[in-house]
Amino acid sequence: MIQDRPELVKYFASKNPGHLFLFVLPLWYLSVKFISSSNVSSGPILIAFIIGAIYWTFLEYAIHRWVYHTHFKTRILSYFLGSFHLYHHKEVGDRRVYNSGFLMIYFVTPLVISPFLLMTRDSGILGALILGLSTAYFIYECVHFLIHYKKFESGYMAYIQSYHFHHHDKAPNKNFGNTSHIWDLLLGTYDERYKTYRMPESSEFSLILAKKG
Ligand SMILES: [Zn+2]
Ligand SMILES: [Zn+2]
Repeated sequence: MIQDRPELVKYFASKNPGHLFLFVLPLWYLSVKFISSSNVSSGPILIAFIIGAIYWTFLEYAIHRWVYHTHFKTRILSYFLGSFHLYHHKEVGDRRVYNSGFLMIYFVTPLVISPFLLMTRDSGILGALILGLSTAYFIYECVHFLIHYKKFESGYMAYIQSYHFHHHDKAPNKNFGNTSHIWDLLLGTYDERYKTYRMPESSEFSLILAKKG
């Protein structure tokens, strides 16, 4: 748990998506450069972008379910892969771990991008896949930050907020999606009781959030 090694927090976690922006930016820059140097038309580029984004929604589910919530026997694996998220469950008011840190990004990116190289060698398609993936990833980080930052009353953000808080509070083995419930539905971990989950009142909410700066 991070209580043992608090100095590592800044490498593996961050307290808002703004910290991540600088580290995602090179990926966006490279993707756009790849796309602009390619002769592929806009249709396939758009399709590749959408595939990259959908792929992220699966990764978001898979990493949360099979990495963050798995108790690895190897202590070091367990420490680096799971403990930040499990700590986030335990101390939901600690903002330092609301988002991933830059080392996580640079560790995970080559792993998740490698399947693209098996699919295509076209730089434009590759760039669009990476652009879709990294854009959806950044949106996910923003969504996770915002649903812990303030209470939403209606619309998409209110839905995903109840969905995630129900996972936090009531059903840690269900509802692993952070931006949608699609993969939970497809893979048998969907718990619809989030619909009746009572979110903390705004005042309680700001108390939760005000715990640590
Ligand atoms: Zn959370
Ligand atoms: Zn979780």
